[in-house]
Amino acid sequence: MKKVELKLLSLKRSSILKLESTAAEIDEIVFELFSIFEKEIDYDNRKIKVKPFQKRTEVLTDMVYEYVDKYKEQMPQIYKFKKYIDSLDKDEYFCISLNTKQNTKQIVEIFNILEKYNNNTDTDIINKSADGLFGFVLDNYDISTYNGKKPIHIGVSCKKKRVCRFCHKTYPEVRFGKKAHAISEALGNKSIIANEECDSCNEKFGTGIENDIVAYLSFYRSFFGIKGKGSGQPKLKGANFCIQNTVDNTVDFRIKGDGKGEFPTHIDALTYERISLQNVYRVLCKYLVSVIDSSVLPSLTKTIDWINEDIVSEQLPKIKVQILNNIFSMQPSISIYIRKSNNKNIPHIIGEFHYACLVYVFVVPFSSQDDKQFLSDDEIAKYWDKLHYSQGEIKNKWTAYDFSEEDRKKLVFNIVFKEQNV
Ligand SMILES: [Zn+2]
Repeated sequence: MKKVELKLLSLKRSSILKLESTAAEIDEIVFELFSIFEKEIDYDNRKIKVKPFQKRTEVLTDMVYEYVDKYKEQMPQIYKFKKYIDSLDKDEYFCISLNTKQNTKQIVEIFNILEKYNNNTDTDIINKSADGLFGFVLDNYDISTYNGKKPIHIGVSCKKKRVCRFCHKTYPEVRFGKKAHAISEALGNKSIIANEECDSCNEKFGTGIENDIVAYLSFYRSFFGIKGKGSGQPKLKGANFCIQNTVDNTVDFRIKGDGKGEFPTHIDALTYERISLQNVYRVLCKYLVSVIDSSVLPSLTKTIDWINEDIVSEQLPKIKVQILNNIFSMQPSISIYIRKSNNKNIPHIIGEFHYACLVYVFVVPFSSQDDKQFLSDDEIAKYWDKLHYSQGEIKNKWTAYDFSEEDRKKLVFNIVFKEQNV
């Protein structure tokens, strides 16, 4: 079996077309596919190359229709190709690539060129504005984001060939019967599924450290009404308060009192939970390990030992937190930054976790590719000040929190009430 992967990119959408067939046929199928596109002559290598940037002309559209019609029975997946072409505007430019994996920087460059072709904008200006904000990040990191907008299963699909990322055991010693959610289902994740988490680890995390993060975020969950496993509106009841987002999207917040006197300006909302902040950090890294490219896992052996609670850390890097104004998501998401340069002043892996209106940016501790631990203000400043987080409007909105506390402490939310004229 021979495989060919055609990647199609436009400003609006991307698609991957996979062609699979026996060796003899595929060459012909690919040759015909190439004949659809505009070509250029590569004089240096004496070759004819398909141009990476193509225009959706009427001629091209007709040729795609013809091609799809010819091979649709043999390869029904080819309909995707027609659908993709139909999604483009008349004369819109798009980019094609064959059997290549682009990194984030290359994709940004492709978008810049498409922007220029389609809108006649000057790429230099776009490049400069992107460089100002993201230049350092794109030069040093590959970024991937899992936002759950589309269902995605991470890892090997055949259950008998899976290796658990957390206990490193394989089938049949461990089973992979349950659906393991890469980000806890209780936080609203339905669609990011981790194939390489065995039933035993799933059970261990679900009844262990994941409860710490679910409790830690429970106030926001009830405030915004983010549904978890059940279908009802989540309600949080503590010793002196109760909060729930009702069906008509109003927040019902009640506090215990004698009904006399003024409404307080703040309360310490006392929950019945005790949580370990270090476990919250562990779970953030667990989410990341569940979805990260498996080639990085050998560098994270010690990190995984720590997630498994085999190691306790005395001091962890501080986590930077921001509450976004006016941006809010019902789906939790995670972005991963993997260092591709040799610059050891910046962390090997950084995670960015979004929940409701909260953003958590954290260094993944114990990577074997890190020389530094990123604990001191000086070490932190050396990388943080270069990242996009410390630029533009958001630069002063971060607060650094210490999540090193391992012992379970009573969870109390400090709520401040402010009067506002509406
Ligand atoms: Zn396992």
